[in-house]
Amino acid sequence: MIDLRKQETFYYSQNSLNTFLQCPKKFRFKYVERLHWKKALPGADLYYENMKVGLDFHLLCERYFSGIACDVPEAVENREQLQTWLKQLKEMIPLKEEHRYLPEYEMRMIKGDVRLQAKYDLIVLKGDGDVEIWDWKTEERQMSMAEVAKKIQTMVYMYLFMENAQGLLRCPIDYEKIKMIYWQPQYGTKRLEVPYSREKHLQYEAEIKNIIQELQVYDFDCPMNRERFEKSCRYCEFQSLCNQEA
Ligand code: SF4
Repeated sequence: MIDLRKQETFYYSQNSLNTFLQCPKKFRFKYVERLHWKKALPGADLYYENMKVGLDFHLLCERYFSGIACDVPEAVENREQLQTWLKQLKEMIPLKEEHRYLPEYEMRMIKGDVRLQAKYDLIVLKGDGDVEIWDWKTEERQMSMAEVAKKIQTMVYMYLFMENAQGLLRCPIDYEKIKMIYWQPQYGTKRLEVPYSREKHLQYEAEIKNIIQELQVYDFDCPMNRERFEKSCRYCEFQSLCNQEA
């Protein structure tokens, strides 16, 4: 079995780091044994239906910001909902000539132990040097400011962007000019905006480095205290496999 952690071509994402923090065994199943299981838990159908709407919406957003026609085809499921969300998006972020839009934009970096990658829903480079990093969240549960401010995704996306910013913009950029914005279209135009700073950059770097260093040497064969990760078990797709191993 190939241990992806040892591969130089493997980059950590907010998903893989999050998985490790939720439960190391889950990380082992997903990223070491490379098992891809569908959830078979109560409510899983709704989960997958929401995921499908989310993917369709992401595609519409990508088309809109790429300047491609983005009418919602008649045959698409949940057409009305998607049309409403798209209308809100267009009102909230009207396209402007002086801005640069980078939808579904991928970034990578290597710095010592830190090998990171991310795919951004949208980066907006504004004419005045301001930068907005947008993320569309289409799950039902409404998120709070406190929650998004401490998300691994926020840390990884902002840190990685700032590390690459100079190359992308070809000029120095102020930390204070960057913000990350989470938007849940099902809750109207309300958004959650996370500001950035040099202090946060250093703090995120240290936190990301710690998680990766712990992960790199973690012994997945050692017995694990499952009670510690009980909260994650409730929604874990590997429940049955895990119970067999216990
Ligand atoms: S069921 Fe629980 S212990 Fe098992 S992999 Fe999932 S989160 Fe970890």
